[in-house]
Amino acid sequence: MMIKIIEKMNKIVLFIIISILLIVVWWGTINRFSHFVTESRDNLFNEEINSMSTQISKILESKLDIIKSLNAFVALKIDDGLSQELLDDYGEMSKLIEKGVLNINIAPNGIITYIYPLEYNKAAIGHDLINDDREEVKKGIIYSIKTKLSVISGPVELVRGGTGVIIRDPVFVDDEFWGLVTIVMDASVLTDVIDAYNGAGLFNYVLIKGNDEIFYGTEFENNDYDLIVDVPSNYMELSIAGKLNEDYIYLNDDIINFVRYISLGFLIIAIYIVYDLTHTNELLNRRINKMIYFDKLTGLPNRRSLEKKSMELIKKGDFYLVFADLDDFKFINDTHGHPLGDVLLKQISDILYSYLSKNITVYRWGGDEFIFTIESESKEKVEDSIKEILNHFEKPFKVENNIFNISVSMGIVHYPSDSDGLDDMIKKADISMYSIKESGKNGYIFFSEIDTAKYFENIELNNRMKSNEFIDELLVYYQPKIDIQSNKIVGVEALVRLKNKDGSLVSPNKFIPVAEENGYINAIDRKVVEIAFRDIRRINDNMENGIKLSINLSPKDINWDMVEYIKEQIKTSGIKSSDIEIELTETAVLENIESVVEIFEYVRSLGISIAIDDFGKGFGALNYLLKFPISTIKIDKNFVDDINNNERGNKIIESIIALSKILGIDTIAEGVETENQLEYLETIKCNEYQGYLCCKPIKLDDFNELLKTRDS
Ligand code: C2E
Ligand code: CA
Ligand code: CA
Repeated sequence: MMIKIIEKMNKIVLFIIISILLIVVWWGTINRFSHFVTESRDNLFNEEINSMSTQISKILESKLDIIKSLNAFVALKIDDGLSQELLDDYGEMSKLIEKGVLNINIAPNGIITYIYPLEYNKAAIGHDLINDDREEVKKGIIYSIKTKLSVISGPVELVRGGTGVIIRDPVFVDDEFWGLVTIVMDASVLTDVIDAYNGAGLFNYVLIKGNDEIFYGTEFENNDYDLIVDVPSNYMELSIAGKLNEDYIYLNDDIINFVRYISLGFLIIAIYIVYDLTHTNELLNRRINKMIYFDKLTGLPNRRSLEKKSMELIKKGDFYLVFADLDDFKFINDTHGHPLGDVLLKQISDILYSYLSKNITVYRWGGDEFIFTIESESKEKVEDSIKEILNHFEKPFKVENNIFNISVSMGIVHYPSDSDGLDDMIKKADISMYSIKESGKNGYIFFSEIDTAKYFENIELNNRMKSNEFIDELLVYYQPKIDIQSNKIVGVEALVRLKNKDGSLVSPNKFIPVAEENGYINAIDRKVVEIAFRDIRRINDNMENGIKLSINLSPKDINWDMVEYIKEQIKTSGIKSSDIEIELTETAVLENIESVVEIFEYVRSLGISIAIDDFGKGFGALNYLLKFPISTIKIDKNFVDDINNNERGNKIIESIIALSKILGIDTIAEGVETENQLEYLETIKCNEYQGYLCCKPIKLDDFNELLKTRDS
């Protein structure tokens, strides 16, 4: 739980961290971008405005140079006498017109006396500058005389049209004011500089005079940028202001905003993708987790999940493990098909799932096997839980109009008192579960309550089977079959024994299940076939009418290989197929239903008989079994035991025999121990019997002896 929260937290934290990182990167980039935009804009502005400022300064400076030189020229010529011609020469020589000068004039005592070019400017002759009615002109002249500095003023409307800028310089002779020299310059020389940048680029510029008087350009509010242009005259201060040109897109603020919003959109998408990735990752993890740790069909935790959980439980130090196996589920699968079996399994799993809790976990171990781990402080509480689960199986299950009564067998082990590890626990729980199956299924038992001596004996047997000598330690005993009517021996059953070193014998009931479990059964059955076929040859060679040999085959040995082997051994030993009968239990048939019919038919076609052993012990699926091509039914000892004790048991034997007669199937009763039983079997017309009443299973020699004595 805690781990899950941490995992979940981690995912949220990861998401937040990545998101913050993205936002920081985005914020940084956007700021850098807008910084870059404003910076390059500033740079451009500075570049442009500085260039204009330098150009304007240069223009004005050059004009000031002109006025200075004019001043010097006048001062030089005062004594020689000034004349219009002199000024004309000066003007021509200095190429003033080409330099953007509209006119120059000389005004002794402030009265314009000479003017170049005289043409168009005659009207100005005689004009008294010092008493000019234009306030500004007057002010400028006074300032100029006082400071002895050049004065630039303008723009002024020119008499000849257009605007001009006036540059004036006082002329002093021996420190006495003599007069004024003036240059009138076309203002467009200055404004062209501004126009060159205006409108075409990012900025619109205005040339400003003094504090806020527009010299040139369209006035605008809130200058974004401005710069004072250093005009080389103390008298006139010029500055240039610029404003962003709104029609111009490049490096515009709108661009910044556009990029900002678009990238914000991308940012949101990026954050969503991160969220989606961390989220789907979680989904994916969950799905993978489900695949690894849960069973596909039932949705229950699986083996791997158990392995994981067991480590946790072993660390805690105390828990129970329950191995549960559904009784006879294979039969349902075989008779109704796997799809229905799966539906039923799912129903059962759902019930088991409802027991999932803090203390109990249910796992699907495989097929119809389930495992519970139970954390409980007492055995009694575990029993309570188990009983509760078993209660659920009292009610029948229903699938597609079929009703199924399902029971479960369970074996329980405790950690650490019974076992010290998961594998061993499962093995022991499995063994315990089997002991329940053996004693009639449907129930539970603790490992501590089962016969552990048997458990260890089985382990020993298991090891013994792995040794090379084992197969040679097998013996075959023979038990006669007697015809009830004639009281003659008509057959014999081969029963295997395992001989210990000390000569004692091990019952097949002990070692056959172990051999079936470890895969050794086939070798045993083959060995018995080999010995018994050889023996029956000898027996029958000495007899007038031969007797039949019955061989027991394990359910595991119902296959084509075994049939071929038997066929071969009949040939090798030189016996007749009709001398052989194979005994198979009901479960053997039911466990191999898919292949059984074909094999049975083939075996019968060879002339070999088939008997159903322990008939009626399992299900009493009488009708069902009689459909197979069988020759004999061997009525289970339990029914024989019940003869004269149990009214119902007798009825069953009677109906089995009656039905068999109709179907032409022979009947034999096994485990007959009393005369009473035999008499009863005779009255109901059972064909043969077998049992201690006649004789126990005996060695071959003893059997031959028996044949002789009975014959005589
Ligand atoms: P089964 O085929 O049902 O054999 C009958 C068992 O009942 C035999 O036990 C026999 O000794 C015993 N029996 C016969 N008459 C009486 C009687 O009147 N009273 C009592 N109480 N018991 C009687 P056995 O020989 O110990 O065999 C046990 C089981 O082992 C057999 O049961 C059979 O299923 C299996 N088995 C024996 N030999 C072989 C074999 O060669 N191959 C395979 N696969 N299984 C074998
Ligand atoms: Ca038998
Ligand atoms: Ca039997």
